[in-house]
Amino acid sequence: MNAPIKNKLLKGETGEWEIVIGMEVHAQVLSQSKLFSGASTTFGADPNSNVSFIDAGFPGMLPVINAKCVEQAVRTGLGLKAKINLRSIFDRKNYFFPDLPQGYQISQYKDPIVGEGEVLIDLKDGESIKVGIERLHLEQDAGKSLHDQHPDNSFVDLNRSGIALMEIVTKPHMRTSEEAAAFLKKLRAIVRYLGTCDGNMDEGSMRADINVSVCRVGGYDKFRADGSFKHLGTRCEIKNVNSMRFIAQAVEYEARRQIEVIEAGGTIAQETRRYDSKVGETRSMRSKEEAHDYRYFPDPDLLPLEFEQSWVDAIAKTLPELPDEKKARFVQSGLSAYDASVLVAERELADYYEELAKGVDAKAAANWLNNEILGRLNRDGLSITDVPVSAHANNAIIQMISDKTISGKIAKDLLDIVWTEGGDPRTVVEARGMKQVTDTGAIDAAIEAVIAANPDKVEEVKAKPKLAAWFVGQVMKQTGGKANPAAVNAALKTRLNLPDEG
Ligand code: ADP
Ligand code: MG
Repeated sequence: MNAPIKNKLLKGETGEWEIVIGMEVHAQVLSQSKLFSGASTTFGADPNSNVSFIDAGFPGMLPVINAKCVEQAVRTGLGLKAKINLRSIFDRKNYFFPDLPQGYQISQYKDPIVGEGEVLIDLKDGESIKVGIERLHLEQDAGKSLHDQHPDNSFVDLNRSGIALMEIVTKPHMRTSEEAAAFLKKLRAIVRYLGTCDGNMDEGSMRADINVSVCRVGGYDKFRADGSFKHLGTRCEIKNVNSMRFIAQAVEYEARRQIEVIEAGGTIAQETRRYDSKVGETRSMRSKEEAHDYRYFPDPDLLPLEFEQSWVDAIAKTLPELPDEKKARFVQSGLSAYDASVLVAERELADYYEELAKGVDAKAAANWLNNEILGRLNRDGLSITDVPVSAHANNAIIQMISDKTISGKIAKDLLDIVWTEGGDPRTVVEARGMKQVTDTGAIDAAIEAVIAANPDKVEEVKAKPKLAAWFVGQVMKQTGGKANPAAVNAALKTRLNLPDEG
């Protein structure tokens, strides 16, 4: 499964080092109401307008578990191919924070709702890696302190207080910043396919804490062989990285920092650090020595969470086709593993592709989508959901290329036309006379015109058969790009008496 270690090393002053990465991801559960109250979860509401007495931590209020949130956690667990625990426990994690009115967070500690699972990630070079999932547990989010509303006072907004989060913890199975970013992308795709989290990193619906350590070459393989963490270096945790780009930067910076410390004779202190994207550095927030003792204990207001296997099975039946299965199906239809993994990364993109590829060559459809459609979307700053030309219309264009109604070159012009002006591609081809010329009379006439204008080149081509390509280009020009290149080639060979392989 794991590729030769060679390309995963960082070079220091004293030799090469391995990086080891594990992640804790907080994903906000998609549900109308909060984990233990009926208050709304709508993003962007007026401050403190989505707050019940429970979320505000009023004395004597009793939490009631939201069945929808439990279902979403189970769904996610199934999507992560993980063990679903039919019995789990909610614990109080005690600490003080101005935006945590209860004085504790209800979380799951020793007995989470979801156990071990795995996520397959696809890398650029076609390699696939399995990242082990340690657990997934449900917990409440805290409120938010606002420090920029008043010169002397801070305010607290409790709208977020009590919203359900899934904390997804990986095993330390990632080795490069590319793998870390690929993992988060894949996890985001899975929860979005499942409809259990919107994956919106800008709005904070998904945030990642990234644990990074470095060790001498061979340490990681020993760790994988016997499972002992003693083969790995001491880790530092980078808190709340909220963009794919910053993940890669933060990991690179942190690994190099650790290597420098160790090579200068120092040791790494286990600590929590913050990534400052403006200066591209991680900075210490707090050391593990100062870490809180949370005094976890089972929340006496909540019974153990129990459900039946039959309920889990019923949820499993409603899962959509997930990215890995879709990818396998796309590969089966003729796509490369990498192309398929790019297409399945967004469900909307995969759906568009499937419509586009109906009845045409899979590879041709994928190329058309990648080069022509995504290229234009990128240029115009649009996403696949705003694409101005439907998959059905593009499918017609691909069909016209493959049945030689139009050339590949004309097809691009045609897409430009319908992209900006709209209209049905077949109608546009008819109306503007864009059909490819296969009529040999017209092609022969064009060839004669080119020959007549370039007698010197006719002499040359006899000695240099490669020059035939130049003639093809000239004839294409003569016909306004509408001649069928294969027909031109054939006619030129006969006319100029060229050998077949020319
Ligand atoms: P905590 O609860 O203190 O954060 P955990 O044992 O739950 O500690 O681990 C948190 C994360 O750190 C996990 O994602 C795990 O994979 C990762 N991790 C543990 N040890 C290492 C290490 N030596 N290097 C990199 N990541 C690590
Ligand atoms: Mg942690």
